[in-house]
Amino acid sequence: MIIVLKNGATKEQVGELISWLEDRCKVKTNLVEGVHSTIIGLIGDTLHMDTETIMANDCVESVQRVQEPYKNANRKFHPDDTVINVRGRVFGGNKLQVIAGPCSVESEEQIIQTAIACKKAGATMLRGGAFKPRTSPYSFQGLRREGIDLLLKAREETGLPIVTEIMSAAHLDMFDDVDIIQVGARNMQNFELLKELGRCDKPILLKRGLSSTLEELLMSAEYIMSEGNSKVILCERGIRTFEPMTRNTLDISAVPLLKHKSHLPVVIDPSHATGIAKLVEPMSLSAIAAGCDALEIEVHCEPKKALSDGAQQLTPETFAKVMEKISAMARFVGKPVDDAQ
Ligand code: PEP
Ligand code: MN
Repeated sequence: MIIVLKNGATKEQVGELISWLEDRCKVKTNLVEGVHSTIIGLIGDTLHMDTETIMANDCVESVQRVQEPYKNANRKFHPDDTVINVRGRVFGGNKLQVIAGPCSVESEEQIIQTAIACKKAGATMLRGGAFKPRTSPYSFQGLRREGIDLLLKAREETGLPIVTEIMSAAHLDMFDDVDIIQVGARNMQNFELLKELGRCDKPILLKRGLSSTLEELLMSAEYIMSEGNSKVILCERGIRTFEPMTRNTLDISAVPLLKHKSHLPVVIDPSHATGIAKLVEPMSLSAIAAGCDALEIEVHCEPKKALSDGAQQLTPETFAKVMEKISAMARFVGKPVDDAQ
């Protein structure tokens, strides 16, 4: 960390600041007096230091971090890719995972039928929302516990591991048998929930917030990891921009950037990213070309009758066709779709 001092900073102010940094923050300082400006270089663990607090000193012009504020999620401290094994399906290795299923679990027939169709088309995991984060409290809120029970039935029927979203730490007991717990975009910065998930032993699929930066996503991963759970999977699901033709704007550059900055696996959700079923195929192919480790795609037996996100869900027939292209692209880039059963 580098602190740039104001030109008029007095010796007393600088001395006071240095004592505070060394005695209270336990870092070493290196004062460099240049012709035009004076800086203090900090040596030591500055992760816990708050730049805003340093800025509160009258003699400080600016504060710059030279290291990222996240450590556990940082590739610099963990050069090898993190590989997460979920019932034999590997995230972050040399296979592509395809998580498919409806936006919401709506009934036993719907989830079982969809799970069977997704598996037949080559999906490697099943998704389905039991707790739904809806903009309106009057919209379908999910089947909650019953939804999770139905997902477990679908897993029994197909062998597909299941991914479903948690919205409150108070519900954690209900997720005991779930294979991957999803944290949705709206909860990416629910820090108490993240800390609680950091104390459990389940893989966490962490979605990027609607208007969050990649650094904020990595800091949220850090919340989970700093509590002891290193099984975090990052998910780019589109961000809010000024473009109204798509539901969100898919930030494909997030894939290579996240993989460069972090060792964690990266998933792309082309369904929520675009909100348009037709765009799911081209976005999936681009995501694979960009190096993603998995895709999360919404599939519904009758999208027109879906209780949520009808416009972006693929029919099983379309999904099967999209899977053919996905498989070809995945083979082409040398990361074939996992064929674990
Ligand atoms: C979902 O995957 O069901 C979902 C609500 O997605 P997001 O949090 O990305 O909006
Ligand atoms: Mn959805």
